[in-house]
Amino acid sequence: MGKIIQLDDALSNKIAAGEVVERPASVVKELLENSIDAGSTVIEVDLEEAGLARIRITDNGDGIEEDDVLTAFQRHATSKIKNENDLFRIRTLGFRGEALPSIASVSRLEMKTSTGVEGNKITIEGGKVDSLDKADGRKGTDITITDLFFNTPARLKYMKTIHTELGNVTDVVNRLALANPDISFRLVHNGRQLLKTAGNGDVRQVLAAIYGINMVKAMVPISGESLDYKISGYISMPEITRASRNYISTMINGRFIKNYALVKAIQEGYHTLLPIGRFPVVLLNIEMDPLLIDVNVHPSKMEVRLSKEQELNELVSRVIKNAFKTKELIPAGFIAQKIEKPKSEQTFMDLDHLPSSEKSTPSTHSNSMIGNGHIIEEKATELSQRYTAAEQKDFTRTDGPDWRNAFIAAEPLIRPETNEREQSIQGNVLEKEAPAGETEINVSPVSGLGLEVHLDEPTFTKAEGNPSRVPPLYPIGQMHGTYILAQNERGLYIIDQHAAQERIKYEYFRDKVGQVATELQEMLVPITLEYSADECIKINEHQQELEKVGVFLEPFGYNSFIVRSHPQWLPRGEEQELIEDMIEQLLAMKKVDLKKLREEAAIMMSCKASIKANHHLRNDEIQALLDELRRSSDPFTCPHGRPIIVHYSTYEMEKMFKRVM
Ligand code: ADP
Ligand code: MG
Repeated sequence: MGKIIQLDDALSNKIAAGEVVERPASVVKELLENSIDAGSTVIEVDLEEAGLARIRITDNGDGIEEDDVLTAFQRHATSKIKNENDLFRIRTLGFRGEALPSIASVSRLEMKTSTGVEGNKITIEGGKVDSLDKADGRKGTDITITDLFFNTPARLKYMKTIHTELGNVTDVVNRLALANPDISFRLVHNGRQLLKTAGNGDVRQVLAAIYGINMVKAMVPISGESLDYKISGYISMPEITRASRNYISTMINGRFIKNYALVKAIQEGYHTLLPIGRFPVVLLNIEMDPLLIDVNVHPSKMEVRLSKEQELNELVSRVIKNAFKTKELIPAGFIAQKIEKPKSEQTFMDLDHLPSSEKSTPSTHSNSMIGNGHIIEEKATELSQRYTAAEQKDFTRTDGPDWRNAFIAAEPLIRPETNEREQSIQGNVLEKEAPAGETEINVSPVSGLGLEVHLDEPTFTKAEGNPSRVPPLYPIGQMHGTYILAQNERGLYIIDQHAAQERIKYEYFRDKVGQVATELQEMLVPITLEYSADECIKINEHQQELEKVGVFLEPFGYNSFIVRSHPQWLPRGEEQELIEDMIEQLLAMKKVDLKKLREEAAIMMSCKASIKANHHLRNDEIQALLDELRRSSDPFTCPHGRPIIVHYSTYEMEKMFKRVM
């Protein structure tokens, strides 16, 4: 007698539930996907205790026919695919036919559904059908899950705090709302509305509902295509950063997916504009032939396999890079003392104080930071409350004011480039800047639909006839041998001289390292370099890459090399160290990427060659530095992503001194 038996359906479903229904957020995800697949235009999610006590989802979709109601809860029962061929052409979010039976096996479930004529109501407890009756004929589906995991205590124990679970659910709803701007989503938790989207197709309104208006103001649209891919979306300006990748939402054919390489490509697009360890806020929609994507990789359908992944990643990086090429990215200055530590630090976790989404809809913004520390606080609280407990750390500033916070309530970062007309500085310092109101986004609640946002495209001016993205600046002086103060008719600019030089040198070396080194300098004393046997193999393998950056290694005895010359442009006195550093980089890279190698080399050299803080500069040296900075292609951040320039507008200064109200 053999020992192997076929498990019954109830047990198989529970096992499947282990993967498909991990936590309340996964239930919400599966049910919302069903509502979306059913063609709904209005979907409501109502939760109690983060969904652990109750999840109710109401949609106005196609509904389920009477004959299908029981079948829908069978294992691998689906209306979305019919044969193997369909598996490679999936256009719906669901297709595995696992969600309903899995969810039903670990909860008490009630579903009312109707195709518009008459309706049916089914109740199931722990996977066992309790009742099946007639119900009213409102078109759509209304499904309620109570006591999730009541019969799987081990799973229940594994649940995190209500706050964390709620954060996860919110995240799911947010992303599905972003992926489906033409569907109106409403999320309610313990009677409080946390999100409501208009469903009018404008994704910026969804972004505003989730992240707040100021965030949308600081985001720019992107779009582009390659042979196989079409991408579009919105990306935050580099000053707006977050400590985690969670604010990067990537969708492929309307499906929210997680893909590490794609996030890397996005970061690569920002390049040196992001500080180390910080991430942008991004919404990226990718459209492609379903044949090129395998979504059947994981039960949660969040991971996918892409053919031609490289092509996509390159497209994403390129499009993001191009988006910043023409923008002026000078952040507004702020008055540090005015920014109090947010008391929200303590209230972040306190969900009882969650504002209703109407309340949290930002409707008043000041253009100026001065005297408006509380706005920052409000905004930080509001933003933070939308995210999971883990994420909330990002908003907790323990290290005092951070320049990035300036953007939360600062004046618009993006302004039209001034024309290059020479102006008499003296005569214009007191000329007012346009007050904030002009560039504000008007928010007016519209009955029934919640948020209505009028977003003007941010205005950018390509500096015509002049390639500089920084207006002309006139030196005032230097402070502490570290900061350069400069002015023009638009106000005061503070420049970190080391950061500025790093940027200038970086671009210089990047060009140099990018060229084939034709001019080599013979060394008086050749350098000998020794490496271990395996390192030598790798060096030999990639010798060509080194030669492309101008480093020629000659084998010299066992495990050593000799270098007799170096590229002309290497900073004097640093030659040996830089050559060693470049070889080190080559060894550290798993796969040698010539572009990366060159770039890292350029960053390293720029840092070594730049003036440090506490270095006195004469006025003509300051002017030369400013002029060079204006000529650089990315004059706003140093290669490590720190800001170079901060701006106090004339208007802000006048407010500071109460010359204007
Ligand atoms: P899948 O979505 O993978 O097909 P599910 O178990 O999630 O599998 O759902 C089974 C079937 O039930 C779906 O194929 C669909 O036909 C039907 N269904 C589920 N939810 C809804 C809904 N909200 N509206 C209409 N039909 C639904
Ligand atoms: Mg489904």
